[in-house]
Amino acid sequence: MKIGVLALQGDFDAHRRRLEELGAEVLLVKKPEQLDTIDGLVIPGGESGTFLKLLGEEGFEKLKQFVRRKPTFGTCAGAILLASEVENPKQAGLGAIDIRIRRNAYGRQLDSSIREGQLLHSSLNHSPGSTLEMVFIRAPKIEHVGAGVEVIATEGNDTVAVRQGSAMAATFHPELSDDTRIHQAFLELCGSDTPFGKLRAGSVRRL
Ligand code: GLN
Repeated sequence: MKIGVLALQGDFDAHRRRLEELGAEVLLVKKPEQLDTIDGLVIPGGESGTFLKLLGEEGFEKLKQFVRRKPTFGTCAGAILLASEVENPKQAGLGAIDIRIRRNAYGRQLDSSIREGQLLHSSLNHSPGSTLEMVFIRAPKIEHVGAGVEVIATEGNDTVAVRQGSAMAATFHPELSDDTRIHQAFLELCGSDTPFGKLRAGSVRRL
């Protein structure tokens, strides 16, 4: 299984290391045509506005097609890119997950912090209510979750990780904690020989 990590900007190398540690073959994706050669993609943190600029119209369209067909996991800026609606300021989203997300939504003091959240019992995690360390860096906030979206993790009252079909997003940075469960869950989502294969088959998303 070959997993791409979008390597235009930002925090891609920590994802590469984590995925390799878990046994995946990793390709750093710098050109749109490389998307044709991978089974899943991680969109890392960084600055979502800069990602949009670097992708350009062609890259954005190619990525939009990719996320409709193949498993994709966005962290922080990557989560912003996957959303259907982006605020502060308004900007284009790939529409892979029906969420409204607000960029830089935490005040100055809280804008970067390590907190303990909950990994919920979900299709991606079968041990209910377990705690998870979460690293937030100028994090966005998920303000609204659409009907077809599964919440997979929370922190306080906030939804911080979600899944819709084969797209997954987290507003925190699991690649910066030692806990590998979130990346493991994504790799399971990518593997066709797992129970999650069926999620992919049934994933009809509004784009
Ligand atoms: N603040 C960034 C944005 O709005 C996201 C921060 C991050 O990815 N760590 O795009």
